[in-house]
Amino acid sequence: MPKSSFVDFKAVKAAITMEAVLEHYGVLDKFKRGTDSLSGPCPIHKGSNPTQFRVSISKNIWNCFSECKHGGNVLDFIARMEDLSIHAAALKAIEWFNLDPEAMSASSEEKAGETSEAPKAGDATKPKPAAARTAPVQENGAPNKPLKFRLDKLQREHPYLIKERGLTLETIVDFGVGYCAKGMMAERIAIPIQNPEGGVVAYAGRFPVEEPPEGTPKYKLPQGFRKSQELFNIDRAIKEPRDMPLVIVEGFFDCMKLHQFGFRKVVALMGSTMSAAQEELIRKHTDRNSRVIIMLDENEAGRAGRDDIACRLSKYCFVRIYEFEKEDMEPEHLSNAEEVQQLFA
Ligand SMILES: [Zn+2]
Repeated sequence: MPKSSFVDFKAVKAAITMEAVLEHYGVLDKFKRGTDSLSGPCPIHKGSNPTQFRVSISKNIWNCFSECKHGGNVLDFIARMEDLSIHAAALKAIEWFNLDPEAMSASSEEKAGETSEAPKAGDATKPKPAAARTAPVQENGAPNKPLKFRLDKLQREHPYLIKERGLTLETIVDFGVGYCAKGMMAERIAIPIQNPEGGVVAYAGRFPVEEPPEGTPKYKLPQGFRKSQELFNIDRAIKEPRDMPLVIVEGFFDCMKLHQFGFRKVVALMGSTMSAAQEELIRKHTDRNSRVIIMLDENEAGRAGRDDIACRLSKYCFVRIYEFEKEDMEPEHLSNAEEVQQLFA
């Protein structure tokens, strides 16, 4: 189904349950089942309180009573988890749950105009103007624009980067990361995300403590930035020799760690799933003879992600899944260059 196609949101919503979606994210086992409810920690803001997030099974809706203070239907949930528009979330759902694209496509523009946002007072019955109706669909595929500014005066030698993450000053400088004292990423580690041309499209802000206090997200991303459109480190990775395999990891720090250990052809998904735009980026920078190694975290989400990614990328190139022997192992935990070299031997 082409990215710009109209989707019958109602049909998609009816076809999948919140339970299936939580299962997809590998978090269902953290949820407690009531007669008509599932409650657990909020997967969106990654909270830990086991009663903050509640699903009504019969209504197929969710609510986070904690930091998000928000609720919605199954597509709203995917949209928040993936940082996507509702339209893109519906396309994801169709892909993940193998829904029949024909049956899920809207037959008229009327249906495509429907958004699953809760109606705001006053505009519930008013038909939306044509421009507003088509805007989200166009916006969906648009790339993130390069920023017109740089965060400067970042503190490079921050203990979080050096002691906690084990990065060397060289790696820190290579990636341009550092502690930001003020501004939009104040009191966070700013991590520049670049497009394939090297333009900085956003800064991600990592809270500089392994486990942030309850209610504080580990990562902060600018409003309106769609990480699903980007692959972290793609700009550097594509400068590496063509015959080297491209390694796909989940996180920023997995990527920086492999780079530090001399393996520089590596990109991070910034999550455990691959978006359509990320797939397109990889396809664009590989050919039939290229090798790709998928090295996600050794946990439920990582395993689900890598199988899906392998299946999709094997259409374009040679794909290998790297499995760690130990549960919860992540590429970031590799401790030296020898260990990394062995992986690729
Ligand atoms: Zn929440």
